[in-house]
Amino acid sequence: MSVAPSESLIEDLYATGQHRVDEAAEFLHLDEDLHAVLREVKRVLQVHFPVVHDDGAVEVYTGYRVHHSIARGPAKGGIRYERDATLEGTKAQAMLMSWKTAVMSLPFGGAAGAVEVNPSELSARELERLTRRFTTEIGLLLGPERDIPAPDIGTGPQVMAWMMDTISMHQGFSVTASVTGKPQAVGGSVGRVEAPGRGLAAVLMHTLRNTGLTLEGAAVAVEGFGTVGATCARMLVEAGCRVIAVSDHAGGWHNGAGLDIAALQRLKLEGGHLGDGGVPGEAISREELLALPVTVLVPASVESVINSQNASQVRARIVAEGANGPVTPRAEAILAEDGIVVVPDILANGGGVTASYFEWVQDLQSFFWDEEEINSQLERAMLRASDHVWGFAAHNHISLRRAAYAIAIGRVARAASARGVYP
Ligand code: GLU
Repeated sequence: MSVAPSESLIEDLYATGQHRVDEAAEFLHLDEDLHAVLREVKRVLQVHFPVVHDDGAVEVYTGYRVHHSIARGPAKGGIRYERDATLEGTKAQAMLMSWKTAVMSLPFGGAAGAVEVNPSELSARELERLTRRFTTEIGLLLGPERDIPAPDIGTGPQVMAWMMDTISMHQGFSVTASVTGKPQAVGGSVGRVEAPGRGLAAVLMHTLRNTGLTLEGAAVAVEGFGTVGATCARMLVEAGCRVIAVSDHAGGWHNGAGLDIAALQRLKLEGGHLGDGGVPGEAISREELLALPVTVLVPASVESVINSQNASQVRARIVAEGANGPVTPRAEAILAEDGIVVVPDILANGGGVTASYFEWVQDLQSFFWDEEEINSQLERAMLRASDHVWGFAAHNHISLRRAAYAIAIGRVARAASARGVYP
């Protein structure tokens, strides 16, 4: 048996990722050499680069691009702009992306990137200069058949447009398929922004059906009201659920009768805060939200939000990981003891990279699908993956996380094994 990670590993996301690989390797009776390959990232590029600020001062920034595996296709994964980004955290995200693309059956490997910067402290011009220089620094890895970045925390369509333009300027022609999550004006796909939330909602509805719980009126709490959390909340309300609490970094809002999610989204779009009024309800803290007696709890902000300190207070029936890694391994053990079903990130939020795949395919073919096509293909992909994970878990009497990891790691292992060791 592999040893459960100690408390000190809670913050060590890469060690947690490796521990999950070890568990899956044992379950799959994976060849030792293959196991050794899959528990490490393939390559790491660390860069330090100067950016001229608007006042003329120069600051040196640190960034990373990590490839975990390219056994199943080009490296794929997001770019974070985050003050506290680390190389270890980026390695963990790159590994997670390999499993996510594999569990979603997408022909990609796994990558992740980050710049240690708080984007809200930069002007738009500074952000553009930082993005163009960072893209240039990691450019030797990028390209539609090599490594395709996408948005993550602190980045979005505009940053992706600058990245795509920078890659294109170096080539001398437009390479729209080099980046996904771009604005539609430059080869982005309809439905990409909403895809992670839409996919999450589809998996959740499937989960409710599988656990025999009723969708109609089911109480939901959403932690993190960014694109993933807010879209998922809206879709669940449209499907008949009652979203009774939402929160973001500035605070939370609660109404036992159900919140007007569309109004809260409008409020935030206009630059307001969840508690600014106009929407009936009362303030709630993040810790209070996590402890609400709900059917579904969706942590959709950052890592380790549900940890060994607060897991025993969770009173949800289902926890669906909208964020990457919001439930620590120790917390997961506590939730399991309480009979709480955890839908793992690599399945729950796989809708984003699935729509990225659609965008990449459309760019390569210069043939664009309509929204109905995107949404129905997305839903089909989410249900297929969710069905497979549920079936595998039931058949082997293991958790959804272990099932998803075993399926994903099995797929990457089969590809790596078929290709063999070079030279
Ligand atoms: N950053 C997103 C994720 O973690 C999207 C990645 C992508 O589309 O490549 O799934």
